[in-house]
Amino acid sequence: MIISKAPVLTDKQLAEIEQIVGEFGCKIQVIHGAHRQIYAIIGDERSETMVNRLLGLSYVDRVDRMESIYKFMDRRSDLSRHRMKIGGVELGQEPLVIAGHCTIDPDNSAAFFETAAAVKEAGAHVIRGGVWKPRTSPHSFQGTVRSLGFLLEARERTGLPVIAEVMDEAQLRLAVEAEVDMLQIGTRNALNYTLLAEVGRQTAEPGIPVLLKRSRHMGPIDEFIAAAEYIVANGNPNVIFCPRGTMPMLDGYRNHPDEAVAPLLKEKSWAPVVFDPSHSVGRANYVPAASLAAIAYGADGLIIETHVDPISGIGDDPKQSIKPKVLKALIADVRVVWALRSRWQANGNSSDAA
Ligand code: PEP
Ligand code: MN
Repeated sequence: MIISKAPVLTDKQLAEIEQIVGEFGCKIQVIHGAHRQIYAIIGDERSETMVNRLLGLSYVDRVDRMESIYKFMDRRSDLSRHRMKIGGVELGQEPLVIAGHCTIDPDNSAAFFETAAAVKEAGAHVIRGGVWKPRTSPHSFQGTVRSLGFLLEARERTGLPVIAEVMDEAQLRLAVEAEVDMLQIGTRNALNYTLLAEVGRQTAEPGIPVLLKRSRHMGPIDEFIAAAEYIVANGNPNVIFCPRGTMPMLDGYRNHPDEAVAPLLKEKSWAPVVFDPSHSVGRANYVPAASLAAIAYGADGLIIETHVDPISGIGDDPKQSIKPKVLKALIADVRVVWALRSRWQANGNSSDAA
């Protein structure tokens, strides 16, 4: 990773470093940070001569050669200073709340617009709405591109940014073209490395934040961080970890609740964590407790399925969605837990307990 003295290299300087690394069989990948560009060396960057030649350039500050399977996502990476702002919220400064339908019902767009207005009133910063849906059964409703129009209309009506899941390159292209503000990669595709790389490439220039769910089949924390690395290594550092429960070992919850991974992720990586209580526990009445626990553990935000009339919804909404009035009360208590957590952190009590 090449750290330049100025935040951005000129075209001529970039061409020069590309030429040098090219002589050693490497390439440069530009990663668009909020305050500076990162120039990653792709390929074997161990060549002493190559590094020395780069260090000899007047505009190069240093060359980091970190041995890690996720050198960009690593806490020690230069990217750890990268900050993200979504819906007016700087991640880490106050809790980010994303809320809305699991699935937009194209035959009842009015309910979605009502939910969008209600979650805004409740204090959410981003509206979620499933356009294309990954369903266990091929006979279940798969979503429709028509719902992309409804998602954009909800943005128009509320002025809030919107998020939707994409599952393949065609959907990705449509969502990027439609300037969807934030993209979700779901649990099923969290291990789809070619898609993750393509997401990184296509979202790099607009810098669209990508919420990467934890795969239901991911065990080691490193596997989750390395999946995010695919997106960042292909140009977009705006990646957010989203634990959402893994394979269940309890028979009461939909998935195995994993809000406790937040501090583990933060020990190793710098990216924010936005927890999904809805898919983790899978039942609306457990969502508030899971949300508060996640914030206590260190999550930077929550993505919560919410619906004005859950029983009339489709997809997960009838069983998982909370109502906007519950969301509003929950957001107030999320702020209370956030303040408690900040107090513990400020006093250093968390580390003293170790
Ligand atoms: C969803 O957010 O509705 C969804 C399908 O999520 P996951 O990929 O976590 O199951
Ligand atoms: Mn869902």
